[in-house]
Amino acid sequence: MSTARGMTADGRPSFSFEFFPPKTGKGERVLWDTIRRVEALAPTFVSVTYGAGGSSRERTVDVTRRIAAATTLRPVAHLTAVGHSVAELRHIIGRYADAGIRDVLALRGDPPGDPNGPWTAHPDGLTHAVELIELLRELGDFTIGVAAFPERHPRSPDWESDIRHFVAKCRAGADYAITQMFFHVEDYLRLRDRVAAAGCDTPVIPEIMPATDVRQIRRFAELSHAAFPEDLAHRLEAARDRPADGHRIGVDHATAMAERLLAEGAPGLHYITLNRSTAALDIHRNVTTARSLSAR
Ligand code: FAD
Repeated sequence: MSTARGMTADGRPSFSFEFFPPKTGKGERVLWDTIRRVEALAPTFVSVTYGAGGSSRERTVDVTRRIAAATTLRPVAHLTAVGHSVAELRHIIGRYADAGIRDVLALRGDPPGDPNGPWTAHPDGLTHAVELIELLRELGDFTIGVAAFPERHPRSPDWESDIRHFVAKCRAGADYAITQMFFHVEDYLRLRDRVAAAGCDTPVIPEIMPATDVRQIRRFAELSHAAFPEDLAHRLEAARDRPADGHRIGVDHATAMAERLLAEGAPGLHYITLNRSTAALDIHRNVTTARSLSAR
């Protein structure tokens, strides 16, 4: 079984942050302001998501390469098989390798247009993430992450096949996994136990999504099929005209989740930033303060 190759810190939980490629000059400035704040915290790694198609994909490559060249951060490039031939995937992977980037989150991706629609592979492409892992292993010495789903992948017919295919990704060479967003700690714990029961010890890092804006979070939760707690939704709804209160409610909820996950032995925390530093950094500050106090 593979190890995490530095993606989870020895004996201490890792922490990492996720960005997406911005569309505008203003978005670019906000992202780089956040990157510099995150850099000061010396996280274990940061990751950049891969778009569904078109120019956002080129921006993923650009942002990831710039992080590698201009910061002290360890960037992980998300890469999907959507709409790519194997020759194109080889080319993109080669560009990362040329820029000294050896970290890839290997994903299948979702059908463009309708993420919940039926999956169709490119005629000269790949069908499942496991094949992308095999391609990366063939092309070089990459540290490879994969996706895991605390509430099961929405297209998996049952838990047995979901875990079987997840374990196949680990056996093919995944070093670690990051979960889909989720809002109930028990879902993560059950997934972890299922993976362990299948004989797999690949670290599964929980993703932390700050839920500070009820409209936005409902849309994300719907897209990712994550069950959103009704009590949290009601509290955020009641605060919808008071953004500072919404922020506090979301940060407090995510902080409590993060602390419980670490207490239960999660190997790290992967924060979604939406390119803004405030909520993710507030949660991280709360978690580190609580841990350093309790360690005394
Ligand atoms: P797979 O591992 O291929 O699994 C997809 C489905 O196929 C599952 O139901 C699985 O059980 C099944 N399956 C797998 N192997 C087989 C097999 N051999 N035979 C039959 N069935 C099989 N999407 C983006 O577009 N860009 C991103 O940047 C991005 N980042 C993400 C980051 C994280 C942390 C996560 C959790 C998801 C991310 N996604 C992203 C979404 C992801 O691409 C979708 O959720 C996609 O539907 C599943 O990808 P996967 O890599 O898990 O696919």
